[in-house]
Amino acid sequence: MTVPGSIMKIAALAGGVGAAKFITGLRRIIPEEELTIIVNTGDDFRWMGLYVCPDLDTILYTLAGIANADTGWGVSGDTFCALNRLHELGCDPWFQIGDRDLATHLYRTEHLTSGWSLSKVTRSLCVQNGIRIGILPMTDSPVPTLVHTNDGTLSFQDYFVRRKCTPAVKGFTFQGIDTAAPAPGVLESLAAADAVIVCPSNPFISIGPILGVPGIRSALRESSATVLAISPVIGGRAIKGPTASMLAQLGNEVSAAAVAALYEDFLDLFVVDREDAALVGRICSNGLRVQTAPTLMGTMAAKIELARQVVEILEREAGKQRGQTL
Ligand code: GDP
Repeated sequence: MTVPGSIMKIAALAGGVGAAKFITGLRRIIPEEELTIIVNTGDDFRWMGLYVCPDLDTILYTLAGIANADTGWGVSGDTFCALNRLHELGCDPWFQIGDRDLATHLYRTEHLTSGWSLSKVTRSLCVQNGIRIGILPMTDSPVPTLVHTNDGTLSFQDYFVRRKCTPAVKGFTFQGIDTAAPAPGVLESLAAADAVIVCPSNPFISIGPILGVPGIRSALRESSATVLAISPVIGGRAIKGPTASMLAQLGNEVSAAAVAALYEDFLDLFVVDREDAALVGRICSNGLRVQTAPTLMGTMAAKIELARQVVEILEREAGKQRGQTL
């Protein structure tokens, strides 16, 4: 199913689950060749010596149709023989990795060790999984997220998985980000895009690291493409994860308006849920155009409907711009 009218090239900035849900709908509306997804790698880490990229894998498994939708991580129907054996050997592998998932990390680590870049491994994993959508890590350099909390500075997975996001957050460091370069294809895909979509992902730990890679935020600010973001906050709540608590702990209002404020320097359009229609006037007054849509993606039909409405908004915008230049 594709939307009639002009086919547009879209680049999307993505974290994990929220983004994967939206892209699942978007690929049904836009030809896959027209999509490039730029994915957060700030939560990448080493597990038992293996290089694990949680957001890349969530996107990859989702597009390959093998994601475990119940957990939001890992491969559907996976077994845990290796993990159980590690327990028997006295290890405490607090990060859950199934056997088929493990194969991805072995494959990635083996190729990284042999000198491949992360983008080359990712491309290869896409081909092996039959994925035609371009999936790019935001950078090929490791830029691990550190979370500054009232319990001290924690590595991202220590905060997120081991401590279940309970320590109050004071800020973040993306180690090495100042000298990281966008991965090959990232700036090119932003330059070629008719529209850039910031997926409904955590603005601090999923989108924040992408925007922190030198050159990406300025490319969005200067872009002639329409830059649109979808709020990950609906009615003052996050659907999953610590977005709402982080907004509060960092001194923001817990609302879609606060997310818009974090992006306002580069954003043209912001999509809030219909439940947040009352916020539209306030957000618009920041010089940003705001649209409402049903943004809760609980079913496949809801994912497709949101993608359809977002593409329609973008096409209306493109039509207006064409009208202005005539
Ligand atoms: P993570 O790395 O898996 O935590 O993934 P993301 O950063 O992509 O996703 C977390 C964010 O996605 C949270 O802020 C959620 O509120 C948001 N999210 C998840 N599902 C939905 C949904 O159905 N609709 C909207 N609008 N946001 C969602």
